[in-house]
Amino acid sequence: MPTGQIRKALSGFYYVYDNDQLIQCRGRGVFRNRGESPLVGDFVDYTVEGQNDGTITVIHERKNNLVRPPIANIDQAILVFSIKEPDFNTILLDRFLVVLESFQIEPIICLTKSDLMDEPLEQKIQQYIKEYEQIGYTLLMTFKDDADIDDKIAPLLKGKTTVLAGQSGVGKSTLLNTILPSLNLKTGIISEALGRGKHTTRHVELIAVCEGLLADTPGFSSFEFDLMEKEELSSCFPEFVEIQDECKYRGCMHVKEPKCAVKDGVESGKIKAYRYKHYIQFLDEIIDRKPRY
Ligand code: ZN
Repeated sequence: MPTGQIRKALSGFYYVYDNDQLIQCRGRGVFRNRGESPLVGDFVDYTVEGQNDGTITVIHERKNNLVRPPIANIDQAILVFSIKEPDFNTILLDRFLVVLESFQIEPIICLTKSDLMDEPLEQKIQQYIKEYEQIGYTLLMTFKDDADIDDKIAPLLKGKTTVLAGQSGVGKSTLLNTILPSLNLKTGIISEALGRGKHTTRHVELIAVCEGLLADTPGFSSFEFDLMEKEELSSCFPEFVEIQDECKYRGCMHVKEPKCAVKDGVESGKIKAYRYKHYIQFLDEIIDRKPRY
């Protein structure tokens, strides 16, 4: 049975990419009965009837999947944050980072609107860049109309499935159109072509670009820690993971426990105080979360 990858979902059809062509497929009824549904990014087995009409029969196991946008098997996210207007905000950045870590999606932090910064702000931002790089994150500072943006981002897309994410109001689509004009993506263009207006946000597609795949949606822009258990949270802070084996108590939550390596790390400056503060805030949010039924 042939295997391919769903690259596009539209009006109840799934477009499976295999051997350089897209095969229009329907999902099998069994998926609906089981409450499963194929997602863009899924690797699937399918059968073909007639000319170019297929049926998806098996969904392969996923590495991960997002709900909004509904995409599976994502490797990385370009996380777009502005330096100014709206102001760079570490708690919002950490929120995104935690959620991406929990899905095992590698973040690439892309700072925009650097043309709006004055010198004191630039110093502050450079300091943050240093601190996040120390944790192990990749950060890029982009300039609008900067010819080398393409050179910075394109190599990172190679061989990966990438989504866009970030705070609202930073112009994620505009940024991508600027940095990857060859892509010519975006809802505006698609909605004009199809006359589908706002429903186009439901269209999800993975576009082959720079030898990788990029989701043509602005990605998620806000979320809660809907699915996370409190025990999981510290594993979403890579600098905690590095030392938390040294905590005296197994399953240490790094709050009130004695001989906690994370709290010692905050004392010694190895862990940034604002990162720890965000951890405590997120932990409180998860604990206070209303039970889900
Ligand atoms: Zn601890």
